[in-house]
Amino acid sequence: MSTEQPGYHIEPIAFVRSPYREKFGIPRQPQLAPDVEAIIELAAPYDRGEALTGLEQSSHIWLQFIFHHTADKAWKPTVRPPRLGGNRRLGVFATRATHRPNALGLSVVKLLEVITSPSPALRISGCDLLDGTPIVDIKPYIPYVDRVEEAHNLIASEAPALIEVALSERAKEDCARFEQNRGIALAKLLRQILAQDPKPAYQPFNESRIYGMKLFDQNVTWRYRQNNQQWQLWVVAIS
Ligand code: SAM
Repeated sequence: MSTEQPGYHIEPIAFVRSPYREKFGIPRQPQLAPDVEAIIELAAPYDRGEALTGLEQSSHIWLQFIFHHTADKAWKPTVRPPRLGGNRRLGVFATRATHRPNALGLSVVKLLEVITSPSPALRISGCDLLDGTPIVDIKPYIPYVDRVEEAHNLIASEAPALIEVALSERAKEDCARFEQNRGIALAKLLRQILAQDPKPAYQPFNESRIYGMKLFDQNVTWRYRQNNQQWQLWVVAIS
């Protein structure tokens, strides 16, 4: 019997158009910023509308995708998950780390609309994917098999704590202008995204340090400050 491992070729069937224009700040799992919308555009030769027939009957879908932004980085058998403070090592297969063999990711997202024209696409919400992420498969979420009532995960037993998000007057005005021009409720989206606190858990709070992320075509900047002895994420401006 041959001991040679077979190789398999996979290629993107679609690409994501999402407001997340850089890795930093993207929620660490889907559904954490549920109102953030994205589009999945089928790519040739898979851009056949009939391939989506019936999918509209599912409220949620599984997306299998390639962590294309980090796919060229070597994988390691152990990683330090950010939710454990970045100082505890776990086996890569015990985590959802991006640096893994085959660089494959898996997310369940809400399906808002199946678009048929001018070209086949899906409108989704709650994704945790960078703009341009290649999708290698789409499957319907099937509650009676995919929802496991007695399941547990002792490493990630509950959603991480949220941080309070507040907007400066300038940031509120910037959001209002964006909403007026683009019809997108940016302040609401920012509150959902930033409540996850993108700052690495091992980094201490530092009032003078400015953080930023790119969302849509906007640069969002924030810092941390104390409010009633609690740390608060203070959005400075959107430009
Ligand atoms: N839900 C998926 C999973 O479990 O396989 C992804 C989890 S992974 C921890 C989520 C992070 O992947 C995001 O916070 C973002 O920083 C990163 N990410 C998203 N899209 C990416 C891409 N195309 N390439 C590399 N990293 C990406």
